[in-house]
Amino acid sequence: MTVTASPVPILNDNYAWLLRESVTGATAIVDPADAQPIIEAIEKAGGRLDMILLTHHHADHIAGVDEVRARFNCPVVGAVADMHRLPKLDQAVKEGDTVRFGDVTAEVIETPGHTRGQINFFFPDGGILLSGDTLFSLGCGRLIEGTPAEMFDSLRKLKALPADTLVCCGHEYTESNARFALAVDPDNKALHEFVGKVEQLRAAGQPSVPSVLGDELKVNPFLLAPDVASFTAVRAKKDKF
Ligand SMILES: [Zn+2]
Repeated sequence: MTVTASPVPILNDNYAWLLRESVTGATAIVDPADAQPIIEAIEKAGGRLDMILLTHHHADHIAGVDEVRARFNCPVVGAVADMHRLPKLDQAVKEGDTVRFGDVTAEVIETPGHTRGQINFFFPDGGILLSGDTLFSLGCGRLIEGTPAEMFDSLRKLKALPADTLVCCGHEYTESNARFALAVDPDNKALHEFVGKVEQLRAAGQPSVPSVLGDELKVNPFLLAPDVASFTAVRAKKDKF
């Protein structure tokens, strides 16, 4: 694998993701919403930053962009659909576009639902998905701007990625998502095992993510919903949980 991703915990429960491409040493940061801890993490990793990737326009994903950009003088990549509410973009991308990163390429997947202009980045080399606030471990993003049908379709695209894909999401919501998942799917054995591992990681002060897409397919109630109607029902239940 040539691309690796490590979470940088920021704010209350957000993760920025530090990406490293091992052939050229290229380094990128995803959703740098808090400049200071991110600059420190980059300095610790060698002090090189080649690119900033943005999944969506919410402040808890972009607030540190200008400061990090000014420090490392690197290009910013984000959704063309949200150019008007993102920091200044050097590469504005849409569905099917690719982003060159060192020796590898990321594919852009539009995933509307949480926001209208949400995008995810998938690195086939390394099997890394930057899922922003679209797909969480054991959960999915709230439908702030999109419809259940849009989110269901966005998740359908992610479900089609290889089963060993690492899901690198924007928040540490897994334990709270687990309480809901267990409430709606109490007899799911794989879910109980999954939650046991999450509890161990969190008790040890470790991030619960990235998770593996193939596992999420067996335990995430939003990925288990077979059609739009069931997805809509699960999402509505979670909103009131
Ligand atoms: Zn968000």
